[in-house]
Amino acid sequence: MHAAQADFHARGAMTQRKIIHIDCDCFYAAIEMRDDPRLANRPLAVGGSADRRGVIATCNYEARAYGVRSAMPSGHALKLCPDLLIVRPRMEVYKAVSRQVQAIFRDYTEVIEPLSLDEAFLDVTATPHFAGSATRIAQDIRRRVWQDLSITVSAGVAPNKFLAKIASDWRKPNGLFVIKPDEIEAFVAALPVSKLHGVGKVTADKLARQGIRSCADLREWDKLALLREFGSFGERLWNLARGLDERPVQVDSRRQSVSVENTYDQDLPDLPACLAQLPELYEALSTRRARLDDGYRADKPFVKLKFHDFTQTTLEQAGAGLDLDSYRLLLGAAFARGNKPVRLVGIGMRLLDLRGHYQQLELFD
Ligand SMILES: [Mg+2]
Repeated sequence: MHAAQADFHARGAMTQRKIIHIDCDCFYAAIEMRDDPRLANRPLAVGGSADRRGVIATCNYEARAYGVRSAMPSGHALKLCPDLLIVRPRMEVYKAVSRQVQAIFRDYTEVIEPLSLDEAFLDVTATPHFAGSATRIAQDIRRRVWQDLSITVSAGVAPNKFLAKIASDWRKPNGLFVIKPDEIEAFVAALPVSKLHGVGKVTADKLARQGIRSCADLREWDKLALLREFGSFGERLWNLARGLDERPVQVDSRRQSVSVENTYDQDLPDLPACLAQLPELYEALSTRRARLDDGYRADKPFVKLKFHDFTQTTLEQAGAGLDLDSYRLLLGAAFARGNKPVRLVGIGMRLLDLRGHYQQLELFD
């Protein structure tokens, strides 16, 4: 190993990372209840119909009280809860809300690893917001998702992905849980091994037969014994039992949007002042768009405004054109949301990743 590398590893081990795991609460069901309030306060699931042997994708907490769960056959769910209302998924709507949630994440960090439409890891180690407090960033993200999108998310804050994911589940729904570096030891000791990433029912049963139920039990075993018993997963178990997880937050290298923005030295006092900045931004955006490889197709336009009081809004419109006039209209609508002086204007367009689409098509062929 080179000296520089060794130095990097040493520093890497010493630098405390700050990872946030965000998980929307019963995402699909939450969107359905938001968009049709008649669906709220009653057992609701999103999924396939029972007569077509469908399964439940998501259900709300009223339905969970009856034992209804994700991936359960809809017919069985209806036996547990005869009043259950099952609505068909509206994937396009869920994807659009997911993009809106991710747009909020991007205001805090670029280091984002989406796990699904409703779940992501954020690495905020290097972000300047809130004086670097991951807890306050997580609180602010929760506040903003609720305020802008009327759905709730739970958040976990910890020094690594493994613990952050457990933490987001700890106070669910609509909760926040933080595991500080000096709390890891005690927190993990009490953790049932079934909570460990990669430990399914089979492994949990195998561990139980060895008398291992908590991570404290697991720590009694040395690394070699675990390797012998569980193969390469044994080393992972040894690490997890000590709260260690070095996996980085992996950013998808494919872009989801292209955009430009500018923060102005002096606040733009009104809409005409904002509109006057648009041609310059539009030209810069066109230059960036021209540089994209042909694996992308431009999709809908969006406008982002940050007001003088640091509140901000992002407005995008499906089906709108990508010409200057479309951005003018969008900017007018975004400005009306705050109707106060503006410090930052951004414009951009969402991208369709054609390579991703081809991959998906292959999956379903
Ligand atoms: Mg979720």
